[in-house]
Amino acid sequence: MTRRLFWEDMYAKEFDARVVSVSGARVALDQTAFNPRGGGLVSDIGALDGRRVLEVVKEGEEIYHVLETQDAMAVGEQVHGVLDWDRRYRIMKMHTAAHILSSVVNTETGALITGNQISPDESRVDFDLESFDRSKMSYYIDKVNQAVARELEVKTFFMKREEALATPGFVKLANAMPPSLDMLRIVQIGDVDTQADGGVHVRNTREIGKVQGLRADNKGKSNRRLYFTVQ
Ligand SMILES: [Zn+2]
Repeated sequence: MTRRLFWEDMYAKEFDARVVSVSGARVALDQTAFNPRGGGLVSDIGALDGRRVLEVVKEGEEIYHVLETQDAMAVGEQVHGVLDWDRRYRIMKMHTAAHILSSVVNTETGALITGNQISPDESRVDFDLESFDRSKMSYYIDKVNQAVARELEVKTFFMKREEALATPGFVKLANAMPPSLDMLRIVQIGDVDTQADGGVHVRNTREIGKVQGLRADNKGKSNRRLYFTVQ
């Protein structure tokens, strides 16, 4: 299992690691600060010893860095990783904002979240909702910004799987968590949202700044998609 440095310190911008496997342009390390694609988040990008990292993916508990070049790294080699931090920090803000938006819409309408896509420039959250009043969009975004302005602390901790499953509301996207894990990582945003989640977030909602609603789309009979960004 790749040690996930981004769980220990979500603000780690650089790190040292040892190469544990190389397959073409795919490199696995003993530890990494690169957050892989998954749970609706795009992957981090950056560099490993000056070679560009185009994407980072996970397979089971293993994390693979897809390099631009195949000029091989050797197993056992020590490498230095550097994240594209501006991009990652926006992903952290967007993701934390997505939690708050989901919570606001769920509280206001009872709708369940069916998916999300978190990117540095524009993100979206999908809801299972038969009718969506577009004029309500700015009202929801105002509610989100009110929560952001309360400077809520974002805490992460681990909890036994059975315990988390038994707590209502904690496991909203159960498939986001590998079934092999006995412990689930829980993310708690003040009194707004608590759920099992492997992704990266900011430490305090004040870092988000301001959330801006972009548009709302209908995707099928009951799927509503809200787009937003952070400033
Ligand atoms: Zn999250």
